[in-house]
Amino acid sequence: MKLQTKIQLFTSLFMLILVVLINTAVYSLFYKISIDNEVGELKGQTNQIVETLAENPDIPYDDLLRAFLPEEGMIRVYEADTSKLITIITKDAKYRSIPGEFSDAESHEVVKQSGEPRTVVIKKPIIWDDGTVVSLQLSKSLGALEETMRTLFYVFLVASIVIIIPMIIGGIFLSRFLLQPIKTFIHTMKDNTQEANWKKIHLQNRSKDELYEMEKTFNEMIEHLKENYEKQEVFVSDASHELKTPISIVKSYAQLLARRGKDNPEIFNEAVQAIDSEADRMQKLVEQMLLLAKNQQDSSHEIVDLAHLSRHTISTFQGAYDRNIVFHCKEENIFIQGNEDQLQQVIYILVDNALKYSKQDVTVEVTKSAQKAQLSVTDLGQGIPKAEQAKIFERFYRIDKARSRDTGGTGLGLAIAKSITELHGGRLILHSKEGEGSTFIVEFPILKED
Ligand code: ADP
Repeated sequence: MKLQTKIQLFTSLFMLILVVLINTAVYSLFYKISIDNEVGELKGQTNQIVETLAENPDIPYDDLLRAFLPEEGMIRVYEADTSKLITIITKDAKYRSIPGEFSDAESHEVVKQSGEPRTVVIKKPIIWDDGTVVSLQLSKSLGALEETMRTLFYVFLVASIVIIIPMIIGGIFLSRFLLQPIKTFIHTMKDNTQEANWKKIHLQNRSKDELYEMEKTFNEMIEHLKENYEKQEVFVSDASHELKTPISIVKSYAQLLARRGKDNPEIFNEAVQAIDSEADRMQKLVEQMLLLAKNQQDSSHEIVDLAHLSRHTISTFQGAYDRNIVFHCKEENIFIQGNEDQLQQVIYILVDNALKYSKQDVTVEVTKSAQKAQLSVTDLGQGIPKAEQAKIFERFYRIDKARSRDTGGTGLGLAIAKSITELHGGRLILHSKEGEGSTFIVEFPILKED
């Protein structure tokens, strides 16, 4: 069942039950009060009969009782012990069939005879003219009241219908009003999945309710998905472009080997070397691409001593390369929060670049302030032109492609370093002057000792 039908059904049913309950309660209350009034009135009349009988012993009882006979009713008197009917006064014979007997208590009852309106009967014991105790019973038909109640019933029925019709129409409008944004939402989502576009919902002139919030969040999600999708597309096309060059080199060397390699050992060696180095390059490229993808999700948080980690990483470098790296760190215990392997990767990338793109000593310095921990890597190499400074953090961007190929660069190092730094709540800054050298600075929020 559609949500719209459910809302309509629920509101209509709820209103119907409410109206029926209220009307029934008012109807029953009115009926009870009316009966009580009738009983009270008839009791008063009975007392009046008793008083008049006592005050006028000379008037024949039957004549006196006739004077008090209700328009639609009956007066009966029953003898004690035998319950014999002493007298009965009525204008309508139908009342005679109402069952009756002597009652020594003052009471009242409402009697229902089939096909006839209800009758209220008041019973009161009195002293009769011969000095015996008798039961005076005054009956009155509730026909007029029942007629009124019937009219009231029809009034309530018509009133209920008159109330319910606008309520049903209101329910239809309410459900439409509530569901319109949801319908647009579903329509937009279907459109997005079927046609693979990035459609958003128009939010102009909308009141800022929960549905508005839902649609706004949806639009933000679409924007986010679109950005990620486009980034991925660029990444895939960049990556395939980067892989194309080594693959075509490998292919052409393999063809050269097939044609002339068997007879010419020089060509054979050159081809094998080139294939080997291109394979290395592809391996590095793939590894780095995987690293880049992985770094976007991984964010395990250990406590890392940046001073210790930097010292350790640099000593590994110095063992592997025949280059001097000057290390300055006045303080120990520079704690930050993050993933040790990823942080080491950042240091590795920056120091590796400094060594690759300069010939002199490289200086690494680790410092701390109240808010942040800082690691700077300075080289006295060729420097980076101002116009290139923002671009070098983009994936696969290399200033001098040919030179970078010689140094084994993939153009992914700084992109990886930047993404890891940002994942750790830090930032990567560059100060460089062409011909003088470069300083890369990474800043991380410091972990307070307590
Ligand atoms: P690559 O693998 O090519 O080094 P990176 O992303 O690490 O990729 O660097 C991107 C480019 O930035 C490099 O190709 C290089 O041109 C330039 N670059 C990076 N570090 C330095 C540096 N210390 N000095 C001069 N140029 C640099």
